Amino acid sequence: MKIFYDDDANIEIIQGLKVTIIGYGSQGHAHANNLKDSGVNVTVALREGSSSWKKAEEAGLHVSTVTDAVDGADLVMILAPDEFQQGVYESEIKPNLKVNAVLAFAHGFNIHFQKIVPSEDMSVIMIAPKGPGHTVRSTYLNGGGVPSLIAIYQDGNNTTGYSAQDIALSYAKANGGTRAGVLETTFKEETETDLFGEQAVLCGGMTELIKAGYETLVEGGYSPEMAYFECLHETKLIVDLIHEGGIANMHYSISNTAEFGDYVSGPKVITSDTKVAMKGILSRIQSGEFADKFLDDCRQSNDGTGGPIMKERRKETAAHSIEKVGSELRSKMKFLNSERLVNKDKN
Ligand code: NAD
Ligand code: MG
Ligand code: MG
Repeated sequence: MKIFYDDDANIEIIQGLKVTIIGYGSQGHAHANNLKDSGVNVTVALREGSSSWKKAEEAGLHVSTVTDAVDGADLVMILAPDEFQQGVYESEIKPNLKVNAVLAFAHGFNIHFQKIVPSEDMSVIMIAPKGPGHTVRSTYLNGGGVPSLIAIYQDGNNTTGYSAQDIALSYAKANGGTRAGVLETTFKEETETDLFGEQAVLCGGMTELIKAGYETLVEGGYSPEMAYFECLHETKLIVDLIHEGGIANMHYSISNTAEFGDYVSGPKVITSDTKVAMKGILSRIQSGEFADKFLDDCRQSNDGTGGPIMKERRKETAAHSIEKVGSELRSKMKFLNSERLVNKDKN
């Protein structure tokens, strides 16, 4: 598979375009600041009265309403939450988008599930960093980048004289992606694998695994503090070893006792039933059932902070004793606060 690095991308293409980034959340703040630092003319587009407006201005960015910022932009990157993209596109982006502008996404959700249907002559691209937005910014600042995917949904008319792929690569370079490696995929493949990864492994699978381990120890009479360090805190230390050098690198660092226990007990936790459940998750993603369930939940509340299912589960999670004991223990680990990825006053 071809992997694109810095030398494969021409940063001057994106530097010559007027770029508008809709939203200043996790991805929005990272793309906007990375592109600005890479010499790109960026405007951040927000709703009037948005709490992000001040944060973006304090970072030295030009901020404007969506209507004004889309008007005249050569490339519009939509980094509003997936559940609001269709509404923003129909009411504020589409009517103000100039002919031949490039439409960009960091996740294929709305295009793949046909919630947004762009006109056929328009270039529609994706630049999707494979990591949280806060890491997209922090790695860029440290001289690195987050591996990213690009995809071309339509290579339509644009005024640059370059192909949609060249433009996507140029954007990825300005965002730090080509420092780590950029793969080309399709909107379908990115959307389905991204949703699957976050649900089954990275977010859903992992948080349930951590909580189940913690609960087992606490119910077995061990202290919550012990259980927190063992099952939550140490997860990162182990994942860092896997991330650095694969599974064998982690096995090299842990004791033989731990490695033997891994082989004997791991398959008792993640069983063939788990794979059956994962396959069920994948088919509900592929059929669009998950997308509709998510959008239905969002539609039942218009305060922008998630629907009833989301709110209920957030409340339950916050009330779990692992979150309470964790917050006390982390407050004593001052070093955790010195270089925080998330600082809600700024990003
Ligand atoms: P977010 O919720 O962190 O931020 C969204 C931003 O959009 C906020 O600044 C909000 O004020 C703004 N916004 C909300 N409604 C708006 C409107 N009507 N008009 C203009 N701005 C509006 O979102 P996010 O997690 O960064 O997700 C953005 C996109 O990036 C999504 O497509 C998501 O799937 C994708 N993505 C996110 C991550 C991640 O790390 N969070 C990773 C890869 C891809
Ligand atoms: Mg995702
Ligand atoms: Mg141990």
